[in-house]
Amino acid sequence: MNLRELWQTILGEIELGISKANFITWFKNTKIHSKKDGVVTVGVPNGFTKEWLENKYIKVILGMLRNNSPDIKEVKFVIEGGSASPIISRKKIPPLFSEDQLKFQELNINKETNLNPKYTFENFIIGSFNELAQAASRGVTKHLGTLYNPLFIYGGVGLGKTHLLQAIGNELAKKYPSKKVRYLSSEKYTTELVDAISKKGMDTFKNKYHKIDTLIIDDIHFIAGKEKTQEEFFHTFNALYQKNKQIIISSDRPPKAISTLEERLRSRFEGGMIADISYPDLETRTAILKSKIKEKKFKVSDEVLNHIATHIQKNIRELEGALNRLIAFSQINETTLTPEITSQLLSKIISTPKKKTSLKNIIKAVSEFYDISSNDLVERSRKKELVYPRQITMYLIREELKGSYPYIGEKIGGRDHTTVMYAYQKIHKEVENNESLQQEINLIKERIYE
Ligand code: ADP
Ligand code: MG
Repeated sequence: MNLRELWQTILGEIELGISKANFITWFKNTKIHSKKDGVVTVGVPNGFTKEWLENKYIKVILGMLRNNSPDIKEVKFVIEGGSASPIISRKKIPPLFSEDQLKFQELNINKETNLNPKYTFENFIIGSFNELAQAASRGVTKHLGTLYNPLFIYGGVGLGKTHLLQAIGNELAKKYPSKKVRYLSSEKYTTELVDAISKKGMDTFKNKYHKIDTLIIDDIHFIAGKEKTQEEFFHTFNALYQKNKQIIISSDRPPKAISTLEERLRSRFEGGMIADISYPDLETRTAILKSKIKEKKFKVSDEVLNHIATHIQKNIRELEGALNRLIAFSQINETTLTPEITSQLLSKIISTPKKKTSLKNIIKAVSEFYDISSNDLVERSRKKELVYPRQITMYLIREELKGSYPYIGEKIGGRDHTTVMYAYQKIHKEVENNESLQQEINLIKERIYE
């Protein structure tokens, strides 16, 4: 096996083990340079990648190299040509919480930037579920407009997208006071656009947006299906992009899953860095709670914190909400929170998901998620773009409602049970190996329970 083949083998193994976004980001532009005296040198495109690989993947890579070629003792990364950017030193990443940062009050939101100073990197807890998104966001603040442009962050509700976007904005406002940062949701953008059109103020609108240095658009999925908004956003995007101005976008799903997004916008979004946020593990949930009580200068026992973190798993906003209500309860009643009290209160607070769903809910959720009509989804139409959402529907009916193959076939366009079986098995198999599909399905599942 020559060096190139060796590296291809390693990349193949790595690709199987990590998410696609991760793989593309960290491994796509790497290649093996040399192997001499047991030392393998791998070329990487920039210092950021170098550091990330050194910190996170070096052991795995070395292990894999050794499996294939036992004489290898060491692996080194070198930055090659062109886009080399300075290494982001580990030490510069601040500690999880700094006292000063936590003394902030709920200050007013800045009218010009729409930034709320309460969202910072310092009070953003990192775990494996969000570290890619966090690192990319940090990267952007250090190499504005040049490292990842656009930066596209996606993930489910209440998992920290807005927090991160705002943290980037706040960091930039501090670092570059003269540069114009503007944060807004895609809905606000739409409203401003509609307003401008109706008042014949398009020139002012264009002017305003084209002067921005960093544009941060939250929840871009809301522009799905809005043609005029998409068209104008495309112009805004290009105008800024051409001038190397930084663009940061969030969404509840990856660009490819926003189905009525114009192709040209989708390919723009995919042209930069895409980072996902998934669900926090128990440890991180506990760490988040700890940082929140520290902010509030309140004392809660570890047992109680653990109890809350165990029961609220999928939404950091709910985690915080439950904590706030428990604190309020304890203050009003002048009692200490015990595990028993917590348990009782939590059972009231957590609107225990009734875990009820129906065929109708599933069809509705899938058609909304992929922006197609529910009629198209369940009828016999042979349009190619319907095949995949339909297979997902069949899979979900089987998984969530335990529907039989013939039953599903009958409900979805009078199809033969073998078609359903094929669809189910195909998706089932894919889910096991494909992290982003897993996430896509989780997002849909969130919507099918009332
Ligand atoms: P999203 O925009 O993804 O729906 P938000 O950014 O609004 O979620 O986060 C919901 C709440 O959870 C916010 O109060 C935010 O500060 C908090 N939060 C989210 N992620 C983290 C984190 N990693 N560390 C600390 N707080 C977090
Ligand atoms: Mg948000």
